[in-house]
Amino acid sequence: MSMNNVGRPTRPEASNDDAGFASLSGGRGLLQDEPLIFELGGWTKTGVDLPDAVPADSALAGLTRDEPIGLPGLSEPEAVRHYVRLSQKNHAIDLALYPLGSCTMKHNPRLNEKMARLPGLSDIHPLQPQSTVQGAIELMDRLAHWLKTLTGMPAVALSPKAGAHGELCGLLAIRAAHEAAGNGHRKTVLAPTSAHGTNPATAAFCGYTVVEIAQTDDGRVDLADLESKLGDHVAAIMVTNPNTCGLFERDVVEIARLTHAAGAYFYCDGANFNAIVGRVRPGDLGVDAMHINLHKTFSTPHGGGGPGAGPVVLSEALAPFAPTPWVVHDDSGYRLVEEAVGPAAQAFGRMSAFHGQMGMYVRAYAYMLSHGADGLRQVAEDAVLNANYVKARLSDLMSPAFPEGPCMHEALFDDAWLEDTGVTTLDFAKAMIDEGFHPMTMYFPLVVHGAMLIEPTETESKAELDRFIDALRLLAEAAKAGETGRFKNAPHLAPLKRLDETLAARKPKLKWKPVAPAPLAAE
Ligand SMILES: *Cc1c(COP(=O)(O)O)cnc(C)c1O
Repeated sequence: MSMNNVGRPTRPEASNDDAGFASLSGGRGLLQDEPLIFELGGWTKTGVDLPDAVPADSALAGLTRDEPIGLPGLSEPEAVRHYVRLSQKNHAIDLALYPLGSCTMKHNPRLNEKMARLPGLSDIHPLQPQSTVQGAIELMDRLAHWLKTLTGMPAVALSPKAGAHGELCGLLAIRAAHEAAGNGHRKTVLAPTSAHGTNPATAAFCGYTVVEIAQTDDGRVDLADLESKLGDHVAAIMVTNPNTCGLFERDVVEIARLTHAAGAYFYCDGANFNAIVGRVRPGDLGVDAMHINLHKTFSTPHGGGGPGAGPVVLSEALAPFAPTPWVVHDDSGYRLVEEAVGPAAQAFGRMSAFHGQMGMYVRAYAYMLSHGADGLRQVAEDAVLNANYVKARLSDLMSPAFPEGPCMHEALFDDAWLEDTGVTTLDFAKAMIDEGFHPMTMYFPLVVHGAMLIEPTETESKAELDRFIDALRLLAEAAKAGETGRFKNAPHLAPLKRLDETLAARKPKLKWKPVAPAPLAAE
């Protein structure tokens, strides 16, 4: 096996193949071995033919580079093939079911893509005079309208660029509101033990101390524990609903009441809005701020597929502190409020340089219009139905973490059923790759031992769900039958086998040094 200089095998090990057959070149089926682009390209050629530059006086006062820049030189087909080959080694929502719980990996309708590519929306620039982009600003206003309508909240900040960025926006608005009311001494944020890691990270980033709220045996916020931890020092609670165990917080109204009675704000992590969109309005539950992951609930691409967008809806109490910009309109048309003056004087600042992820706004709005109110409600209903189908069909073999009652949009299993098999959650998840399925979310939420969190989403048909479930059942039976060899070093059939993920996370090697002799001048 040859290794490149960062210790990554540059070709699959021959023993990858369980039948003992290995190709001569490192290829596999119709998939070729793929080196790094720098190993592929070399520096001595270039894929484009440009005329020689006309010598000109440099304005850089001697700071110009005189070494070659060291970019790989590839022809167009070489470059295209490189990236297509890499994409074949990875998983994508367009290949198969992507059961990552908490992530809501659902189909990205092609209609959204078509709309986002309309020249009037894709070829504009954020610095253009607003009079020339009235349609785009109107689209932002309409998207804002539907986000407010679906959540029952009076204001929305569109510009945050991810769920975590939305959390930051929400907490900054909460901090600004407390400071304006002379309550800057409130320095604690409460979050349940099952919270997504971004919640405590965001709170800590804003300078808050995070205190955990205990969970009940049935996977919900422990009200008595919450009540005992609320007080004059608490700025906000951060609660996900439906929560990360895939369960609706049925005491959410009481949670909001207790929080408000203690003078704190209720931040709701809305990443799981897909399960309740069109059915429940968070504003009616007493939420003060909630981010909406457009890239989850409203089907815009994410993961490796594109940038996210995390608009934050705000209650009446927090609305004055919303970050700029926002859209207003009157007889003269649509306009972005960009300066923190006049009616926007209390805005806490900005979340991003321009106006947010315009391409995501277009996709999310196209998705809303194509579904309509009834279609969006059906999204939530079908997502919940699909997750319960998965839970029902696997519960005889695997152990559901909360067997009582239905789940919401994701089915959560623990590893009790793997006891004494010698197979761990990690082994099981890796073996799914050999069966052609992306693993579910593993070891999250942390409150469930060896957690396996499966979120099928509404876009999977019963036939697809059955294929997935059948593969999991076969694997579960193999684990129980003691076939540990199938699991221990899985995946066996992937381009790379079991990787040391801890080492990769703790000591990532992010630099690549040329293995070839020093680069030659481009000419
Ligand atoms: C996805 C997710 C987030 C973070 O959203 P990003 O867009 O990835 O930053 C926060 N909380 C929960 C529960 C999530 O599932």
